[in-house]
Amino acid sequence: MNFDVIICGAGPAGLTASLVLGRAGLKVALIDKETSPGNKVCGDAIAAYVPKILTKICPEFAPAWEKCIMKTAVNTCRITSPGGKTLDLQYSESGYICKRSVFDTLLFGLVKQLPGITILTGTRVSDVKTDESHVEVATGEDQVLRGRLVIGCDGAGSITARRLTDARTDLTHCSGAVRAYFKDVKDIPPLTFELHFLRNILPGYFWIFPLPDNTASVGLGLPSRVIAAGKVNLKDKMFRIINEEPGLKARFADADLTGTPEVSLLPLGSRDLTVSGHRFMLCGDAASLIDPATGEGIGHAILSGRYAAWQAMRCFEENDFSASFMKGYDKSLYGKIRRHNRFRYLIRRTVVSRPYAINGVISLALKNKLIRKTIKKALE
Ligand SMILES: Cc1cc2nc3c(=O)[nH]c(=O)nc-3n(C[C@H](O)[C@H](O)[C@H](O)COP(=O)(O)OP(=O)(O)OC[C@H]3O[C@@H](n4cnc5c(N)ncnc54)[C@H](O)[C@@H]3O)c2cc1C
Repeated sequence: MNFDVIICGAGPAGLTASLVLGRAGLKVALIDKETSPGNKVCGDAIAAYVPKILTKICPEFAPAWEKCIMKTAVNTCRITSPGGKTLDLQYSESGYICKRSVFDTLLFGLVKQLPGITILTGTRVSDVKTDESHVEVATGEDQVLRGRLVIGCDGAGSITARRLTDARTDLTHCSGAVRAYFKDVKDIPPLTFELHFLRNILPGYFWIFPLPDNTASVGLGLPSRVIAAGKVNLKDKMFRIINEEPGLKARFADADLTGTPEVSLLPLGSRDLTVSGHRFMLCGDAASLIDPATGEGIGHAILSGRYAAWQAMRCFEENDFSASFMKGYDKSLYGKIRRHNRFRYLIRRTVVSRPYAINGVISLALKNKLIRKTIKKALE
């Protein structure tokens, strides 16, 4: 089978790249190992800018998102310091909490409507090769797809990244997190998502994100090196917090766990990696773009998918798929996402890692409007 572009992975990065390229009329293959989209462990928080970008890419997104009732709008970030002080940061624009099964399915529905896209679900990519004139993507089904360009959007542990770059998982640049769904957590403030910076989990945090139907996404993220050094069992740690933490245990006393808590890895954007080369680009988690301070990766996956699709269009216009021409993609990433991630990494190392620093910053912010504004801006 021959394609212009082969996209490995149908998460937010791959779906976005497919939307842009499909709408531009390119012949695209989109491959995912799962049979249905959104089977991803995630806190489910969607930044306010995400629906705006998706609407720019595909105007049909806006009415579909508007109609979707399985989401909760949030405009306030409640931060609890290790000392127990609470700071509410209110934003003029709402973000959302929406289960990934719902969000990714919505995007996938828009991709399915595009005529030039061949979708191969339930198909695992087993190998990726490039040569002078083509790329070859082999699947577990003994099928080989040929294309002129491959975009790796296959998440943490990406096979595209492993085959085409020298990238290796480095635990000093990863976090691990557990996510569970609970029903009937008490005292969930309206329009608010909560980040609890508890003393013994810094620079990680415990979160409560409100979903519709009295459900909440609840979880805990920690740097992988802390998990490895302390042999931390994230699920046990989460339940200990829920059952023992003074500010939380009463709120969870009558809450019901629905489903099973799940653990996954977050490749953080705190180091520079190869994200492009001859006939390939990497996006989202495959390129390690997660915000090192907050753990947000959906927005960066979407932005990088769009940048990669734009670069792919330039490659076809100029008939140039060389590593040097592909650097145009790196430039877009450096200009936006990587600069942002470097700043967030600095925040994590200087403020979020130290209980006295967070306590101090929150105490000051509670008294001073300008400091509140600065923190709000830094977390945007
Ligand atoms: C516990 C946890 C909580 C998080 N919370 C948030 C949050 O609240 N907000 C936020 O913005 N971000 C959050 N993130 C980060 C976010 O989930 C990711 O950054 C985002 O999903 C990245 O999108 P992606 O498209 O790059 O990769 P993914 O969403 O991981 O998609 C990759 C796709 O590739 C497919 N795939 C993988 N390997 C293969 C293969 N060999 N062959 C074929 N297909 C393959 C997978 O099935 C998947 O569909 C969280 C992450 C974790 C682990």
